[in-house]
Amino acid sequence: MHAASRLDTLGTEQAYLVLGAARQLEAAGHEVVHLEIGEPDMPTPPHVVEAGVRALRDGLTRYALAAGVPELRDAIARSLAARGVHAGAENIVVTPGAKPMLFCAALALIEPGDEVLCPDPGFPIYESVVRFAGGRPIYYPLDEGRDFAPHVRAIAQRITPRTRVVILNLPHNPTGGVAGAPDLAALAELAQRHDLWVISDEVYGQIRYDGRRDSIAALPGMSDRTVIVDGFSKGYSMTGWRLGYGVMPARLTGPMTTLIINNVSCTATFVQYAGLAALTGSQEPVTRMVSGLNAKRDLLVRGLRAIEGVRCATPAGAFYCFPDISGVLERTGLTCESFAERLLAEQHVAVLAGTAFGPGGAGHLRLCYATAPEQLERALAAVRTFVGDLTPAPAA
Ligand code: PLP
Repeated sequence: MHAASRLDTLGTEQAYLVLGAARQLEAAGHEVVHLEIGEPDMPTPPHVVEAGVRALRDGLTRYALAAGVPELRDAIARSLAARGVHAGAENIVVTPGAKPMLFCAALALIEPGDEVLCPDPGFPIYESVVRFAGGRPIYYPLDEGRDFAPHVRAIAQRITPRTRVVILNLPHNPTGGVAGAPDLAALAELAQRHDLWVISDEVYGQIRYDGRRDSIAALPGMSDRTVIVDGFSKGYSMTGWRLGYGVMPARLTGPMTTLIINNVSCTATFVQYAGLAALTGSQEPVTRMVSGLNAKRDLLVRGLRAIEGVRCATPAGAFYCFPDISGVLERTGLTCESFAERLLAEQHVAVLAGTAFGPGGAGHLRLCYATAPEQLERALAAVRTFVGDLTPAPAA
């Protein structure tokens, strides 16, 4: 007996495979610098933990309404004003993390054979859920010359009569890229001209170093064709709590809630009250985390740029650097995959190959800098030693 063949279409996240390999090294007694997994190093803010514990003590341990507890849906709707989006509780569906909302959005919007424009490089789960829903992922490149903003012209060129959805992820994993206002406006115009849905993954929206918050859903006519996917994992350091949500036209919340009833029933009630405290309490922990990340970003970018053969854009958001190491690869005959594997095996620094995010990631690495500055210094020293010791590829 085998698993049903539809599971063959599912992809995975290499970050978990690299984490597994790193854990094996640790079990063998080595100290590993973890720059592979994408999660903040700050603990969940204490007032949020307190609210979760209080909810448990108050007996909030039963099923919640499938679409989410009303107070949280209201608070989420109010919080959207910071990015210019006007919504009410009727537009919100709460899920156990942003990922389930991504999955539900794909199932809710994609008909078999539909083409879905996905960023390349991009979060690998997009391609996976698009295929699972019967769609065809069509990759669009990012504009590396403009610090990985979405390449609007390249997106336009890939639109066909079968195109139904465009997936945006701003700030972007793995590059940290964002879109300027003219790019967002051009993307909105494209979506309206070609009658497309937009799935706008905004999970890194609070982690921007230019202090801006925006969303394509805030542009005229866009809230009616956009599903915002968002959550508490990154901004509030709540990865293990599992709390996310979608913002969508009210006509979608009914079918989306039916999907929720069919898989998770609801999101853990006490977790939703912790999320309510995160949204309505002090935002100072978020501001402090972002300013700490800003300094770590600068440290890592500066260190990487000082290595011969490495180029590195300054990411405007999220907590990833996406250095182009093709200068090193050309000199040594390595690929970004073999570079990442050897860096872990020989120097005990865990990073991801750019190709873990699609073919467009070739020649790059992804490093998560949400860790202690000393760890970043250690990683930089290790990369310098590793690159310095590499022997040049034999001449062809
Ligand atoms: N979207 C992107 C781009 C991500 O990088 C991640 C997590 O790594 C998610 C969604 C999922 O976040 P959550 O923990 O809320 O499921």
